[in-house]
Amino acid sequence: MATAPDCFYCDPNHEGRLALMMRVGKMREGVLYLFKDQAHKGRCVVAVDDHKAELFDLTEQQRHDYMDDVSDAAAAVKKLWGCTKINYGAYGDKLPHLHFHIVPKYEGGFEFGGSFAIGNDQPVFLSDEEYAEMIAQLKAELNITKD
Ligand SMILES: [Zn+2]
Repeated sequence: MATAPDCFYCDPNHEGRLALMMRVGKMREGVLYLFKDQAHKGRCVVAVDDHKAELFDLTEQQRHDYMDDVSDAAAAVKKLWGCTKINYGAYGDKLPHLHFHIVPKYEGGFEFGGSFAIGNDQPVFLSDEEYAEMIAQLKAELNITKD
């Protein structure tokens, strides 16, 4: 597994990441994070646990496991919070560590019917207790036992 110093996802103490999301735990090949801005209830990120930029940079087994993780995380978000549709986004022009945004959309809700923005000038922040509850729900739903 490759890591890169100062990388947003490789560095466990990266201040930029800590400001934006909270680690839920390790899946098969992905690491699940809960987005702090919950304007889309249940929004998460699944980053691959390896400093690789593209799906085609992963081994076949890594790719299968990682995409299963993305799928399972999306299914858990839908089951837990009942969105209308999951949006997926993998960009990273300036952050070459593969990660998928998992963004639940709710009919009639924020940004429904359009693309989600990475940043949002009207973020919805929750209490520490509310984040802890959502993280516990995700861990239970996904059988995540590793941090
Ligand atoms: Zn990295």
